[in-house]
Amino acid sequence: MVQRKLSTTRNGTAPTNGESSGTEGTATSGPIRMCIGCRQRAQASELVRVVAVGGDSGPAIVVDLATTMPGRGAWLHPLSECVTAAVRRRAFATALRVAGLTVRPDDLTELIGEITDREGPSPGQNR
Ligand SMILES: [Zn+2]
Repeated sequence: MVQRKLSTTRNGTAPTNGESSGTEGTATSGPIRMCIGCRQRAQASELVRVVAVGGDSGPAIVVDLATTMPGRGAWLHPLSECVTAAVRRRAFATALRVAGLTVRPDDLTELIGEITDREGPSPGQNR
Protein backbone atom coordinates (compact mmCIF):
# COMPACT_ATOMS: atom_id res chain seq x y z
CA MET A 1 0.00 0.00 0.00
CA VAL A 2 1.37 3.34 -0.99
CA GLN A 3 0.14 6.05 1.22
CA ARG A 4 -0.21 9.29 -0.59
CA LYS A 5 0.56 12.39 1.29
CA LEU A 6 -1.51 15.42 0.73
CA SER A 7 0.86 18.25 0.22
CA THR A 8 -1.43 21.04 -0.51
CA THR A 9 0.20 24.19 -1.66
CA ARG A 10 -2.61 26.36 -0.51
CA ASN A 11 -1.71 25.82 3.07
CA GLY A 12 -3.27 28.74 4.77
CA THR A 13 -3.36 29.59 8.40
CA ALA A 14 -4.12 27.08 11.11
CA PRO A 15 -2.56 23.98 9.59
CA THR A 16 -3.38 21.67 12.42
CA ASN A 17 -6.10 22.32 14.83
CA GLY A 18 -4.80 19.85 17.36
CA GLU A 19 -2.35 20.18 20.15
CA SER A 20 1.33 19.35 20.30
CA SER A 21 2.47 21.87 17.79
CA GLY A 22 6.15 21.17 17.89
CA THR A 23 7.50 24.42 19.11
CA GLU A 24 10.18 23.32 21.46
CA GLY A 25 12.40 25.68 23.24
CA THR A 26 11.40 28.70 25.16
CA ALA A 27 8.27 29.55 23.31
CA THR A 28 6.42 30.43 26.43
CA SER A 29 8.05 32.85 28.77
CA GLY A 30 9.30 31.35 31.96
CA PRO A 31 12.47 30.09 33.45
CA ILE A 32 13.43 26.47 33.14
CA ARG A 33 14.28 24.67 36.33
CA MET A 34 15.39 21.21 37.09
CA CYS A 35 13.41 18.99 39.35
CA ILE A 36 15.64 17.67 42.07
CA GLY A 37 13.50 14.56 42.26
CA CYS A 38 13.42 13.19 38.75
CA ARG A 39 16.06 15.58 37.39
CA GLN A 40 13.89 16.52 34.50
CA ARG A 41 13.79 20.05 33.27
CA ALA A 42 10.50 21.80 33.34
CA GLN A 43 9.12 25.26 33.47
CA ALA A 44 9.19 26.89 36.82
CA SER A 45 5.44 27.24 36.70
CA GLU A 46 5.14 23.48 36.67
CA LEU A 47 7.45 23.05 39.60
CA VAL A 48 7.28 23.87 43.25
CA ARG A 49 9.93 25.89 44.96
CA VAL A 50 11.16 24.87 48.34
CA VAL A 51 13.50 26.77 50.57
CA ALA A 52 15.26 25.95 53.77
CA VAL A 53 14.41 27.95 56.84
CA GLY A 54 16.18 27.94 60.14
CA GLY A 55 14.23 26.90 63.15
CA ASP A 56 14.76 26.18 66.78
CA SER A 57 15.13 22.51 66.08
CA GLY A 58 17.38 23.00 63.10
CA PRO A 59 16.81 23.76 59.46
CA ALA A 60 13.58 22.71 57.90
CA ILE A 61 12.06 22.82 54.49
CA VAL A 62 9.23 25.04 53.46
CA VAL A 63 7.27 25.03 50.26
CA ASP A 64 7.43 28.45 48.71
CA LEU A 65 4.27 28.65 46.70
CA ALA A 66 4.67 32.31 45.83
CA THR A 67 8.35 31.80 44.94
CA THR A 68 9.16 35.02 46.71
CA MET A 69 11.06 33.76 49.69
CA PRO A 70 14.67 34.81 49.81
CA GLY A 71 17.48 32.41 49.85
CA ARG A 72 18.51 29.47 47.84
CA GLY A 73 15.65 27.42 46.53
CA ALA A 74 15.19 24.01 45.09
CA TRP A 75 12.61 23.01 42.55
CA LEU A 76 10.68 19.86 42.11
CA HIS A 77 7.48 18.56 40.70
CA PRO A 78 4.46 18.60 42.99
CA LEU A 79 4.40 14.86 42.84
CA SER A 80 4.93 12.36 45.55
CA GLU A 81 7.26 10.44 43.29
CA CYS A 82 9.63 13.32 42.90
CA VAL A 83 9.44 14.12 46.59
CA THR A 84 10.29 10.59 47.51
CA ALA A 85 13.14 10.48 45.05
CA ALA A 86 14.53 13.78 46.25
CA VAL A 87 14.37 12.75 49.86
CA ARG A 88 15.89 9.40 49.13
CA ARG A 89 18.97 10.83 47.49
CA ARG A 90 19.11 13.75 49.90
CA ALA A 91 18.79 16.19 47.08
CA PHE A 92 17.37 18.85 49.34
CA ALA A 93 20.50 19.26 51.41
CA THR A 94 22.60 19.29 48.28
CA ALA A 95 20.46 21.69 46.32
CA LEU A 96 19.87 24.04 49.20
CA ARG A 97 23.42 23.83 50.49
CA VAL A 98 22.19 23.22 53.99
CA ALA A 99 24.12 20.64 55.91
CA GLY A 100 22.13 18.53 58.26
CA LEU A 101 18.88 19.34 56.57
CA THR A 102 16.40 16.68 57.41
CA VAL A 103 13.33 16.37 55.29
CA ARG A 104 10.44 14.18 56.11
CA PRO A 105 8.73 12.78 53.05
CA ASP A 106 5.43 12.79 54.85
CA ASP A 107 5.63 16.49 55.58
CA LEU A 108 6.45 17.37 52.02
CA THR A 109 3.90 15.04 50.61
CA GLU A 110 1.34 16.69 52.78
CA LEU A 111 2.37 20.14 51.65
CA ILE A 112 2.56 19.19 48.04
CA GLY A 113 -0.57 17.15 48.27
CA GLU A 114 -2.44 20.37 48.68
CA ILE A 115 -1.04 21.61 45.44
CA THR A 116 -1.91 18.56 43.43
CA ASP A 117 -5.31 18.55 44.97
CA ARG A 118 -5.77 22.16 44.04
CA GLU A 119 -4.70 21.70 40.47
CA GLY A 120 -6.66 18.56 39.92
CA PRO A 121 -10.23 18.61 38.76
CA SER A 122 -12.52 18.95 41.64
CA PRO A 123 -14.98 16.13 41.98
CA GLY A 124 -18.58 16.93 41.35
CA GLN A 125 -17.76 19.54 38.77
CA ASN A 126 -19.60 17.94 35.93
CA ARG A 127 -19.99 20.81 33.53
ZN1 LIG B 1 10.22 15.67 39.03
